[in-house]
Amino acid sequence: MRFLLALLPFSLAAAQGAPTVEEARAFLDRVEAALFDLSAESGRASWVQATYITYDTELLAAAASERLINATVRFAQEAKRFDGVTLPPDLARKMKLLKLSLTMVTPRDPAKSAELTRLATGLESAYGKGKYCPEPGRCLDLQDITRINAESRDPRQLLDLWRGWRTISPPMRQDYRRFVELSNEGARELGFRDTGAMWRSKYDMPPEEFARELDRLWEQVKPLYVSLHAYVRWKLREKYGDIVPAAGPIPAHLLGNVWAQSWENLYPLLAPAGADPGYDLTKILKERKTGHLAMVKYGENFFLSLGFEPLPKTFWERSLFLKPRDREVVCHASAWNIDNVDDLRIKMCIEPTAEDFITIHHELGHNFYQRAYNKQPMLFRDSANDGFHEAIGDTIALSMTPEYLVQLGFLPSAPDPSKDTGLLLARALEKVAFLPFGLLIDQWRWKVFSGEIPPEKYNQAWWDLILKYQGIAPPAPRSEADFDPGAKYHVPANVPYTRYFLAHILQFQFHRALAQSAGRRGPLHRCSIYGSKEAGRKLIAMLEMGQSRPWQDALETLTGQRQMDATAINDYFAPLKKWLDEQNRGKPAGW
Ligand SMILES: [Zn+2]
Repeated sequence: MRFLLALLPFSLAAAQGAPTVEEARAFLDRVEAALFDLSAESGRASWVQATYITYDTELLAAAASERLINATVRFAQEAKRFDGVTLPPDLARKMKLLKLSLTMVTPRDPAKSAELTRLATGLESAYGKGKYCPEPGRCLDLQDITRINAESRDPRQLLDLWRGWRTISPPMRQDYRRFVELSNEGARELGFRDTGAMWRSKYDMPPEEFARELDRLWEQVKPLYVSLHAYVRWKLREKYGDIVPAAGPIPAHLLGNVWAQSWENLYPLLAPAGADPGYDLTKILKERKTGHLAMVKYGENFFLSLGFEPLPKTFWERSLFLKPRDREVVCHASAWNIDNVDDLRIKMCIEPTAEDFITIHHELGHNFYQRAYNKQPMLFRDSANDGFHEAIGDTIALSMTPEYLVQLGFLPSAPDPSKDTGLLLARALEKVAFLPFGLLIDQWRWKVFSGEIPPEKYNQAWWDLILKYQGIAPPAPRSEADFDPGAKYHVPANVPYTRYFLAHILQFQFHRALAQSAGRRGPLHRCSIYGSKEAGRKLIAMLEMGQSRPWQDALETLTGQRQMDATAINDYFAPLKKWLDEQNRGKPAGW
C-alpha cells in the first residue's frame, strides 16, 4: 500500500508535464523500437508493391505506410511533453529529428487527418495517371512525351507537347489549396509556423539563416549559369530564329526537357566543333555484351576499390535488376535498405547504356551510405542532411572519367585535353542548367505554405520565379486557370526539392576534397578517386556518422569545411566558363 502511494505522486507529476531525463530516454527507446519495426514492415510492403503492381499490393503498401506516418505523428506530438526538459545532446537531437522526420503532418482532428491523407494520395495518383491526348484514342504518357522532347526539333510539336502535359494539372488546383491549409494545420500543432518553416528547420541552423545560405550559394554559381544560358540562347536562336529572343528569356519548350530542368538533350545542337570525346560508352557496353549483373559488379567494384565491404549475398538475391516480362513494376531506379540494417537492394530495369551505368553507381551510393550508418541508433540512420544522400552516388559518378574507363579496359587511351570542352559542356547541360530549377521549386512552395503567395497567384508567382532564376518564359499565355506547378511530380507528391539543389553543390565539393585526399592532380573533371583507400577512408568516416551530428560536422570530416561551398563546381567548370565567355563575347548575357 505504501509502495503504491509512493508511486502515485511520481506518475501524476509525469502526467502533469514535469518529466525526467530518464523518462525521455525510455520514451525515445520505445519510439526507436517501434519505428524500426514499422519502417521495415512498410518497406517490405512497398517493395512488393513496386515490383509487383496489383490492386492488392497497392492497398497493402498504402496501409503499411499510413501506420508508419500516423505512429510518427503521434510520437512527435508526445515528444512535446519533453520540451522544457534539459536533455543530453544526443537525446535532444533525437527529439528534434523525430519532430522533423515527416514532410507532411496530419492534424489531430481525425476527420481532417483523413481528408489530408486522401488529398495527398489523390494528388500523387492524379499526377501518376496524367496523360495528354492530342486526339481521341491517342494518348501520350510522361514517358512518351519525355522521349519526343529529347529528340524532336520541331517547335510546333514541342509547343503542343508543352501545353498538352500542362493540361493534367488544373484539376489539382483546388485540392492543392486545401492540402496546403491542412498540412499547415498539422505543422502548427507540432509547433512550426507552417509546413515550409518545418522543412527549413531540418538543416541544423535557424530556418531564416538556411534560406540566406541558399541565396549565397546561388550568387556563387549564378555567373556560370548566366554564361551557359547566354550560349544556349544564341545557339537556339541560330536554330529556331526569332521565337528565341536575342536578349530575353528562353522559351520553355525548346530545352529538350518537359520542365526545362536539364538540357543535356540539346548537346547535339550545341556541340563545339572538334570536341567529340571520341568514345561512346553505350556502344562499348553493347559491344562487350555487358550483362546487367556485370554492370552492377562494375559499380560495386568501384566502392570496393575505396575500401568498402562487398554487398551482402542477399543484395544479389533480392534486388530487381531487369524488367520482368510477366508483370507491371516501377522501373524508376531506386535504392533500398528494407530492414535498416543490411537488407540492401536496388530496383532498376537495367539496360546496357551509359545512362544506366551511371545510375547504378548513383543508386549504390545510397546503399553504401545506408549500410555505413546502420550502427547508429534508429533516429540517426539517415544522411547528414537530405542533400548528402543524393550527392554521394553522384560524387562517385563524377569519378567516371575517361581515365577510369581506360582502367576498366573499356578504352585503349583517354581522349586528349582538346576534347575537354565537349565533355564539360555535356556535363554542364545536365548539372549547371539544373541549379536554378533545383532552387526555385521550394522558393515557390515555401511562399505558398507561408501564405505570401495566395492561391489566386499560384501560377503567376510560379512563372515569376522561373523568370527570375532560370531566365525562362512560358511559350504560351498562362493564367490562373492553369496550375503549372502541378505538372512537376514533386509538387503533387509533396517531396521537398531543395535537397537536389544542395546535392548539385555538395557533390562537387565532395569530389574536390576526395580528389585531394587521393592525391590526384590535374583538372577536377579528369580526376577519378577510383582505387584510393585514402579517399575511401574519409568518405566512410563521414557516411558512418549518419545524422548523429549536425551536417556541418559531417561536411568538415570529409572536406575540412563547415560551409557548403559552390567554388568547387565553379572550379570544375572553370575551363568551360572561359570557353563560354569567349564564345559569348559581344553577345548579350542575362535576361
Ligand atoms: Zn538518388
